[in-house]
Order: sequence, then C-alpha cells, then structure tokens
Amino acid sequence: MHKKPFLPEKICVACSRPFAWRKKWEKNWDEVKYCSERCRRNKNNQNGDIQIRENASSKNG
Ligand SMILES: [Zn+2]
Repeated sequence: MHKKPFLPEKICVACSRPFAWRKKWEKNWDEVKYCSERCRRNKNNQNGDIQIRENASSKNG
C-alpha cells in the first residue's frame, strides 16, 4: 500500500499564503518563514524584524 507523502505546510509571513515543504528546506524548515526568496526580500512584518546590512565594510582582506 502506497502512502501519500505528507508535506508539512506553513503560512508565509509576507504574503500570508500557505506553502508546502520543499526539498531545499529540509535542513532549515524550522526557520523557513517565506514561501519564496521574493517574499523574503519583500517582508513587511511590523513585528521584530532582522535588519541586514549589506553596506557594512568587511575587514576580511
Ligand atoms: Zn510568500
């Protein structure tokens, strides 16, 4: 008997749409909050947000 694989779902915090588990998230599914990279950049949640500074000068030389 073949069982239908169950894929966990989450609600994207950016677009509020449900999205299913993806293979690429198998390692960090717990941390996934956005259905796509696009939503990740387009996040507009007014709650605690993480700010990413891309302009910071790196001292890795
Ligand atoms: Zn989304």
